[in-house]
Amino acid sequence: MRKIAVIGGGISGLSIAQCLKEQNEVTVFEGDSKPGGLIKCDRIDGTLYHMVGGHVFNSRRQDVLDWFWGFFNREEEFTKATRNAIVYMGRPIGYPIENHIYQFDAEVQKQIIIDLLQIAENKNREPNNFEEFLRFRFGETLYNVYFKPYNEKVWKRDLSQVPLTWLAGKLPMPSVEEIIFDNFNKANETTMVHSTFYYAKYNGSQFLVDRLAEGLHIKFNAKIEKLEKKEGKWIVNGEVFDKIIFCGNVKDLPSMVEGEIDILTHKKTIEELEFHGTTSVLCEVERNPFSWIYMPDETHHSHRIICTGNFSETNNGHDALTATIEFTDEVDEKSIRENLKKIPYSPKYLAHRYTKYTYPIQNGSTRAVIDSIKEVMKPEGLFLLGRFAEWEYYNMDAAIGAAIDLSKTI
Ligand SMILES: Cc1cc2nc3c(=O)[nH]c(=O)nc-3n(C[C@H](O)[C@H](O)[C@H](O)COP(=O)(O)OP(=O)(O)OC[C@H]3O[C@@H](n4cnc5c(N)ncnc54)[C@H](O)[C@@H]3O)c2cc1C
Repeated sequence: MRKIAVIGGGISGLSIAQCLKEQNEVTVFEGDSKPGGLIKCDRIDGTLYHMVGGHVFNSRRQDVLDWFWGFFNREEEFTKATRNAIVYMGRPIGYPIENHIYQFDAEVQKQIIIDLLQIAENKNREPNNFEEFLRFRFGETLYNVYFKPYNEKVWKRDLSQVPLTWLAGKLPMPSVEEIIFDNFNKANETTMVHSTFYYAKYNGSQFLVDRLAEGLHIKFNAKIEKLEKKEGKWIVNGEVFDKIIFCGNVKDLPSMVEGEIDILTHKKTIEELEFHGTTSVLCEVERNPFSWIYMPDETHHSHRIICTGNFSETNNGHDALTATIEFTDEVDEKSIRENLKKIPYSPKYLAHRYTKYTYPIQNGSTRAVIDSIKEVMKPEGLFLLGRFAEWEYYNMDAAIGAAIDLSKTI
C-alpha cells in the first residue's frame, strides 16, 4: 500500500483522505486541535458560532451530492431550506435584487426600466472588468444603489480593478428579458447553488467535518513546518511517505519544501498572491425570517448578516436568534461595537474572531501560476488541493469535487 500524507484537515483534506483511504495508508496532519479549517464551529455559552461565515451545503454536481450523502442520513440529520435572503435598504428588498425591482419606490423603478431599455439596445457590449460587468448587466441605478456599495465593502477596492476571471462562474447572468419576466411573475431565482440548501440539524458545519473525520487516521495539533524529499520519498514529521497532498496555504510551501525541488522560482509570484480576511462577529439579533441579509449601507462597514440561528433552532443557545455578522479584513472590538449600532435588527455583540485567509483573490495570471507549481510538484508526488492551496474561490462542494477529481488521478 502506498503511504500518503494529507496536510490539512479542512473539508478538502478530509474528503481526499476518505476517497483514498481504502487503497492507501493515509495520514492526515492537522495543525489545529479539531478538524474543519474555515468551516469550524464552536459553542459559546450554548450558542453555535461559525467562526467564519455560516456554512450551508448544496452542489450542482451530482457525483459530489452522491458522495456527500454517502456519509449522512439526509432526512434525519439535515434540514433542507429555500434561501430567504434580502438586501436591506432601509427596509427589506428581496434577493437577488434584480428579481425584486417591483419592490423599489416608483421613481427608482422608472429609472431602472430606462436602464434596462438601454441595456437591451446595447446588448453586445463586452465588459472588461467587474464594474463594467455590473453596469452593463444591471444598469446605472442598480449599480449605484446596491452593486457598487455592497461589492466595495466586500472586496475593498475599485471594482474597475477587479478582473472578470476573478469571479468566473460565480456571477449571475440574467438577460434583460429574464429580469423583466422574473419581476412580472415575482419569480424566485433558482439557479444559484445556494438557492436551496442543506444544513445539519445539530452543530452546523462542524457536524460535517466531524463525520468526515471518522475512520481516518488524523494527527491533530500537528502543524507541519517541513516537507523533505529524500531518496525518492517524502519525510513528514519524521515519517516516510510516497506522496503528499497539500491542503494548506500555498504561500507556506516555498519555506516548507526541502530537497532538490525547484519551487523557489515561484516564490515571488506566490508572495504576490492577494487575499482577504474576515472578521466574523457572533451576535444576538431581533427575530426575523431571513437566511442572509446583504447590506450596501455605506454608513457602516459590514456587508452581511448570516442568520445562522434560522438554519437550526439548536444553534440558538438561549431564546434569542443568533447570527454572524461579517466584515472584510480585521476589525477590532471597539469598531465592531460602533458598527453594530448602525446595523439593522439590533445586533448585540457576543464574540468575534478574525481569520486572516478567507478569500483568495485571483488575477489574470493566478491559475497559470498555480498550474505551473502543480506541474513542477506532480512528478515529485506532491499535489495541491483546496481553497488556499489552489488559490481558488471554492465553496465546500467545489472543494469536495476537486478532491474526488484528484483522487482519480493519483
Ligand atoms: C465567509 C465565508 C463563507 C463561506 N460560506 C460557504 C457556504 O455557505 N457554503 C459553502 O459550500 N462554502 C462556503 N465557503 C467556502 C468554504 O469555507 C471553503 O470552500 C472550504 O472551507 C475550503 O476548505 P479547505 O479544506 O480547502 O481549506 P481550509 O478550510 O482553509 O482548510 C485548511 C486546513 O489545513 C490546515 N493547515 C494549514 N496548514 C497546515 C500545516 N502546515 N500543517 C497542518 N495543517 C495545516 C488548517 O488548519 C485547516 O484546517 C465560505 C467561505 C468563507 C470565507
